[in-house]
Amino acid sequence: MDYVKLINCMRCGMCLPACPTYKETFLETASPRGRVALVRKLQEGGLEQSERLLEYLSLCLDCQACASACPCGVNAGELVAEFTCERKTETGLGFMEDMILRKLVPHPDRLETSMAPMRMYQRSGLQKLVRTLGILKMFPKPLERMEGLLPTLPARPLRQEIHEVTPAIGTEIGTVGFFLGCVMSLIFSDASRATITLLSSLGYKVITPKKQVCCGAPNMLGGDLAGLKEAALTNVEIFGDYEVDFIVTDCGGCGAELKKYAHYIEGDAASAFSSKVRDISQVLSLHSEKLRAKLTELPLKATYHDPCHIAHCQGIRKEPRDLLKLVPGLEYIELESADACCGSAGTYNIVKPEMSDQILKRKLDTIRFSGAQVLVTSNPGCLLQLKKGLADHLPEVKIMHLTEVLAQSLAG
Ligand code: SF4
Ligand code: SF4
Repeated sequence: MDYVKLINCMRCGMCLPACPTYKETFLETASPRGRVALVRKLQEGGLEQSERLLEYLSLCLDCQACASACPCGVNAGELVAEFTCERKTETGLGFMEDMILRKLVPHPDRLETSMAPMRMYQRSGLQKLVRTLGILKMFPKPLERMEGLLPTLPARPLRQEIHEVTPAIGTEIGTVGFFLGCVMSLIFSDASRATITLLSSLGYKVITPKKQVCCGAPNMLGGDLAGLKEAALTNVEIFGDYEVDFIVTDCGGCGAELKKYAHYIEGDAASAFSSKVRDISQVLSLHSEKLRAKLTELPLKATYHDPCHIAHCQGIRKEPRDLLKLVPGLEYIELESADACCGSAGTYNIVKPEMSDQILKRKLDTIRFSGAQVLVTSNPGCLLQLKKGLADHLPEVKIMHLTEVLAQSLAG
């Protein structure tokens, strides 16, 4: 770990009001400033690693809201993640971590096979029966949470359905590579289908390499830096075979990770790859006038939740809002604290359910207050968390991915 990053903190406290865990606890040890101090003391050898101390660090969502607020460029979330990676490198992966992060996640076909029983469970009507009878209460809490979060799965993962090359509609203006995130393909396939439709209707030839693998974000989350580097090397090599103007993704988490490949692996190929990565909103914004001309009336009251991985990690805030404002008939309402985390954060909502629920409650209150009919966002983790939260507490509000809104308006 770069020690300089730790000593840059001047302890001003400007990050405190931005930190979701500090807002819930008012504990210095659960604040960005406190976490930087803890990691620094651990690095200097002034503190022993204890369960309690590690618990404070693990309460961090890595939402990076602190980085957006810090005048000195300190990123407490990233420092905690780096510390976790270093620790994991020393201790090694546990059996289950190895099974999930190395044997399952990097293999799209295995991931798809592993979801098949869940699809059967949902389609056979068993899920309805299990939920009605409350059988899940007898299972471990994390399993119950996972089951509750999972929306109805599409009939097939998108990766199995789409062609590797989707031609441009009309005059071709360029070629893009599409990075299809695992969760987008397995769960939110309609949104990624909408992404491809939008790109091709603007004149892009869209190449979706079938062999691409998970971006490596779950490895980073699990402290598995070696696994992340492997994923990066594979994706850089695969996309290197195609001449593309941009590598586009509609998954905030994937975009943030792909843009950092050049930081984790050396070489010109990785730099070229990362420099081409764009969030879908960035590419669509380049053609806003052309897009505006194609959009049709969509009378909706909509608001936008900034995914942390898009607003804080990639600095993208204006583009999604500008795109929504292009839609005729759509009334855009700004959400209060729109860039505050929703409490999803990878598997955080499963491993830290109480804190996640508290953070989610704040978000749901702001959505209720906005009066919007539709909540728009563009990260699968947020979609899962907020879909469940809305279904439980605010069922009149619908949730959509940004590209679903635009594609619906495009289709008329
Ligand atoms: S992390 Fe940044 S904002 Fe927070 S106390 Fe340190 S210098 Fe100030
Ligand atoms: S990353 Fe988020 S949760 Fe972690 S210290 Fe920063 S603001 Fe707090």
